[in-house]
Amino acid sequence: MIDSPDDPLLGAGIDTLAIRAGQTRSSEGEHAEAIYPTSSYVFANAAEAAARFSGDQTGNVYSRYTNPTVRMFEERIAALEGAEQAVATASGMAAILSLAMATLKSGDHVICSRDVFGTTTNLFSKQLSKFGVDTTFVALSDLSAWAAAIRDNTRLLFIETPSNPLSEVADIQALADLAHRHGALLAVDNCFCTPALQRPLDLGADIIIHSATKYLDGQGRCLGGVVLGSRELMTEVLTFLRTAGPTMSPFNAWVFLKGLETLRLRMDAHCANAMALARWLREQPAVENVFYAGLEEHPGHAIAARQQRGFGGVVSFAVAGGREEAWRVIDSTRILSLTANLGDVKTTIVHPATTTHGRLSDDERAQAGITENLIRISVGLEDIADIKRDLTRGLSLL
Ligand SMILES: *Cc1c(COP(=O)(O)O)cnc(C)c1O
Repeated sequence: MIDSPDDPLLGAGIDTLAIRAGQTRSSEGEHAEAIYPTSSYVFANAAEAAARFSGDQTGNVYSRYTNPTVRMFEERIAALEGAEQAVATASGMAAILSLAMATLKSGDHVICSRDVFGTTTNLFSKQLSKFGVDTTFVALSDLSAWAAAIRDNTRLLFIETPSNPLSEVADIQALADLAHRHGALLAVDNCFCTPALQRPLDLGADIIIHSATKYLDGQGRCLGGVVLGSRELMTEVLTFLRTAGPTMSPFNAWVFLKGLETLRLRMDAHCANAMALARWLREQPAVENVFYAGLEEHPGHAIAARQQRGFGGVVSFAVAGGREEAWRVIDSTRILSLTANLGDVKTTIVHPATTTHGRLSDDERAQAGITENLIRISVGLEDIADIKRDLTRGLSLL
């Protein structure tokens, strides 16, 4: 976080922070950030080595938990989220695991929104459950269900807003208040909005996690993640990282540093293309329903308009018919990428019921609203006319 009165970036705007925050230069004077591909560091003498290992002296020790390129990324994303500290991890899932291991112990209870990323659901329900952490899943936007699920041992509330793929929205401030009244923490997966569109800590959340793999990179090259929050909480996360090793590589950190520099421009362009596509889809006779919080009729619209700067790049829609019709639209595209990844400048299209949500039972899928006629699009930055044309090819067959 930038809080020193001497720091020229104190009070700087988000565009300046995205480009300037966190950079340190070596004696070579490089203009762009340097990549430090080194596993360890040499010390001037034995006393310095001892002081670094004990933590009495700050500085690099070993790249499992200290690397200059990774630190530049951590400081830049912390500045963008308004967090005291960030801890970078090998992937988004490693970020969620590190957060869980740092804040939970056997006997603790977690409440998680039902339509989080599928692997997040499995982490809580299938992995952490083995170690005595019990998780209740509730509907993201149903505040009374969250209140009813609170127990004496509830330690963590975990949400992803807006949700994937239906763009449901949670009131972050209201959930933070609920968590704090019961001595629990609120963690927000801010992957879909990024700090360019939503800053959960400003709304009362305690912890943010990101899959940097998505919009922070923005061009689908690297896996990475990050946990952000107070220095006190991040010290625990860093202790876990140092002990267990789900570390971000310096090369990936460099890619994400470069991604952050254009994050806001890209997010604004993703939002504009997504809004145009959602409005167009709504007018198509073969489309029954469009799920995008940017549309005024979407149930999450009012809250999203209040707590987000924009509505994001993910649009889902239901076609007239079922699986066969949805697959026909997908298989008729020739430009869009058929892949489950999202947050890329390339537009991606996927059939959630048989891919991202394919491992859910029929009941679970029905509860999550993932119908057979649903298609999810992560709207990229191609010309919107070409994205529409690619979809028209299949829609006109229905
Ligand atoms: C992809 C994703 C994750 C997991 O991130 P990885 O980098 O793939 O491990 C977590 N949350 C959300 C919302 C995601 O989209």
